[in-house]
Amino acid sequence: ATFLELGVSKDLVKGLKELDIITPSEIQEATIPALISTPMDFIGQAQTGTGKTAAFGLPLLSNIDPKNDKVQALILSPTRELCQQIAKQLFKFTKYTDKVFIESVYGGAKIDEQISRLRRPTQIVVATPGRLVDLIGKGAINLSQVQTVVLDEADEMLSMGFKKELNQILDVTAGERNIWLFSATMSPDVKKIISTYLSQKAMKVE
Ligand code: AMP
Repeated sequence: ATFLELGVSKDLVKGLKELDIITPSEIQEATIPALISTPMDFIGQAQTGTGKTAAFGLPLLSNIDPKNDKVQALILSPTRELCQQIAKQLFKFTKYTDKVFIESVYGGAKIDEQISRLRRPTQIVVATPGRLVDLIGKGAINLSQVQTVVLDEADEMLSMGFKKELNQILDVTAGERNIWLFSATMSPDVKKIISTYLSQKAMKVE
């Protein structure tokens, strides 16, 4: 199939083409049509290098309401470098679309600057769990319109000791929001997150 056939917009496809992303990978074929069309919880057992960022990023970008300038999606990732890479990839995908406001926030950088950036229109936040909890504690981020929380490399975040933070974030966003969880392994801590927070009807892809 082509990205267009999977439901990705012409404008996004144009951006992908410039990055030489022409043929959907296996995980993209599985996630994109499902996650674009129906709000659902999702579990993907996927390694890096499989095109996982586009697998969740393209449905996220497709579902953003451009008229709403509040945070509609959160992506949690274990490290600063991964946050920056994800934000950069999503930004490139949107080269030919309406502007999507994407911010990345992580530990080890000045929090005051991140707080000021979050005062501007922001639709997608890519964050490390610890810094996001700090920002929530300071009232710097409005999560009332969050529809999707992506947990990228959930096993890594948990083995780095972010269990408490992940629970806090999933508790404060509770409600209508969906969770899209990606993990290379299904460790006991990952399984615990799944059984606590995801619907039993969550779609699974290996
Ligand atoms: P990821 O697994 O998301 O870290 O992606 C790994 C690399 O593959 C990134 O440089 C992507 O730009 C690239 N990529 C993602 N999807 C595709 C695709 N369908 N075809 C070719 N390259 C891709």
